[in-house]
Amino acid sequence: MNGYFDANATTPLHPSAQAAWLAAPWHNPSSLYAEAAAAREALEDCRVRLGALLDCDAEEIIFLSGATEANNAVLDHFGRRGQSIAVSAIEHPSVREPAAGAWSIPAGADGIASMEALRKLLETRKPALVSLMAANNETGVLQPWQEALGLCRAAGVAFHCDAAQWLGKLPAAGLGQCDFLTGSAHKFGGPKGVGFLKASPAHGPLRWLRGGPQEERRRAGTENLPGIAAMLAALEAIEPRLTDRAAWESRRATFEAAVKAAIPGIRIVAEDSPRLWNTVLLVMPRHPNVKWLARLSRAGFQVSTGSACSSGGGASEVLTAMGLPDDALGRVLRVSSTWDQTEADWAGLVSALTAVHASLAEQTAR
Ligand code: PMP
Repeated sequence: MNGYFDANATTPLHPSAQAAWLAAPWHNPSSLYAEAAAAREALEDCRVRLGALLDCDAEEIIFLSGATEANNAVLDHFGRRGQSIAVSAIEHPSVREPAAGAWSIPAGADGIASMEALRKLLETRKPALVSLMAANNETGVLQPWQEALGLCRAAGVAFHCDAAQWLGKLPAAGLGQCDFLTGSAHKFGGPKGVGFLKASPAHGPLRWLRGGPQEERRRAGTENLPGIAAMLAALEAIEPRLTDRAAWESRRATFEAAVKAAIPGIRIVAEDSPRLWNTVLLVMPRHPNVKWLARLSRAGFQVSTGSACSSGGGASEVLTAMGLPDDALGRVLRVSSTWDQTEADWAGLVSALTAVHASLAEQTAR
């Protein structure tokens, strides 16, 4: 039984990513002797392959440590220059925190950032940068990033998209059209601590780590070539499988119908919005989410109380922005599958939730 339902926090390493990591040249790509040429070529080959997947120029891709670094780099670049920024209210903290003081694009109970509000902001405030994620990590709700990109382009405003949760779950093609694009390998079967930022040179040179010529002086530090090679192998292994997504979606739909039938009063956040096929954010009818989580864990199922990033404490600002009532915030459970869960795995989770529901009810009655 595959009980790992926390893929939005991180995913297991894909076997082809592991093989690529081990096979990658170990020399420093910046070294000048002949042996290092293979490392340099492998690095540039990864850049070209990623450019082809994303539909952008390879030279615009900067390899780095993950989505947090990419998001910070973009937001700080505009912030340091004193330029105004607009970010959606449902962004990951690695966008929201460096954007403190930015204009906010609100989201409704449906979890979707308002394009009407963006249109108004572009007319009245004319920010230099707009940041909207492709898919939300907590709710799985897909964001209208293509529409936002079009609006920003028409207004002559730079557009950044954090696609950490979209990549590997939905096709990558077209994302490279964004002026700035964030990706993180460990969300799609690659290793942790590696990712990329696509940055259009039209908005000035980004240079946030200094002290070395790597990545065209944009990001100093020896490139993590094994990690980068593994990231590409993972994405290339997953992309062709995305044609299976109707089957994945139907497994989740069966799960949702079954838990609603088994547990009265359970709710699915943003149930009617377009969502990632792997994500369900449940509001349990009663009892704190940590109790559910601990009991599910004992039964062999790993879920989350929201996002891994917010598990350190505090209520989810994303869910607050969506207007979820205070009393519901402590009862949310996020279920996020990998690519490999079978119908039996999803059915196992329904049984485990039903059993935990019964045991919590019994404990309350005692
Ligand atoms: N953005 C989003 C949407 C995320 O889900 C995450 C991971 N929770 C991050 C950024 C941060 O990613 P990383 O772990 O690569 O820094």
